[in-house]
Amino acid sequence: MKSTPWHILGAGSLGALWATRLARAGMPVRLILRNAARLEAYNAKGGLTLSEQGQRLTFDIAAQTMAAQEPIHRLLVACKAYDAEQAVASVASRLAPGADILLLQNGLGSQDAVAARVPDAHCIFVSSTEGAFRDEDFSVVFAGQGFNWLGDGQQTAEPVWLRELAAAGIPHQWTLDILDRLWRKLALNCAINPLTVLYGCRNGELQAHDEELRALCDELVRTLQRCGQPRAAIGLHEEVVRVIKATAANYSSMYQDVAQGRRTEISYLLGHVCKAAELSGYDVPLMNRLRAQLIDHLIGKGLPSS
Ligand code: NAP
Repeated sequence: MKSTPWHILGAGSLGALWATRLARAGMPVRLILRNAARLEAYNAKGGLTLSEQGQRLTFDIAAQTMAAQEPIHRLLVACKAYDAEQAVASVASRLAPGADILLLQNGLGSQDAVAARVPDAHCIFVSSTEGAFRDEDFSVVFAGQGFNWLGDGQQTAEPVWLRELAAAGIPHQWTLDILDRLWRKLALNCAINPLTVLYGCRNGELQAHDEELRALCDELVRTLQRCGQPRAAIGLHEEVVRVIKATAANYSSMYQDVAQGRRTEISYLLGHVCKAAELSGYDVPLMNRLRAQLIDHLIGKGLPSS
């Protein structure tokens, strides 16, 4: 039986990491690039390159623009949170009824925006702890082993195509608790990432600011409880301390975005939590102040504030 093609929207770090592993395992993969100029650049490059454990391999994966006609049954959305809704909207007319859409975006907010744009699709949220970065255009380095949790926030049984991820060596598990996991990851990000940007430090150096971290975690815990996410709140401060110790030498993703002059996903991280608190009528002075300081910092660097 012919397998369903994986359409991958966005051939950046995570998109390339998924595309190359699926292609390596013999799955049909199509990259969807943003325009004809990017398609031309990709074709000139001759494929997508994966560097893993010192080995560098290029895969000649088919690519197309949004304008291609082929129907899409399974779409992996691998762009940043702030691009996801628009990117999916531009292929909406190609989606087959009930198409599966896997959303790799960090934070929260973009998933709901996508789901509202394509109500007939089956949106699946992915929480990934894998790490990858681009060393060149259309070339990705697999920098950190991790795991992918997938789920749709409903009590749906796991899709049969998950076995293709197993065949491709993509570590994963279907979970009924995906929203808890996304909220938990979001809370950890809100506690750690903005402070690393404002103090200009590695994760481990936040150990010197434990009082501030503890107060922020207390506010986050109360916010999660207030927003109907009590399970994401359990033991938050302890986990924050564990994470900053375990990743002491690392720079957070937000720190790296700012250091490299890239737009951050602030609206889907700290911004999302502040908005959720406001909607539930809960006052979050520490997070609002942190967000204002972060926005000032971004503006000072000439970066977008949302
Ligand atoms: P990235 O390297 O910046 O890649 C994003 C890609 O999306 C780029 O290739 C970009 O195209 C493409 N894109 C944007 N708009 C598009 C459109 N309309 N049509 C087609 N392609 C479009 O980002 P990333 O690091 O892979 O991150 C993706 C998401 O995964 C983020 O939410 C991130 O937080 C999350 N995440 C990343 C990692 C990681 O280690 N990288 C880990 C966990 C979670 P161009 O190349 O043309 O700009």
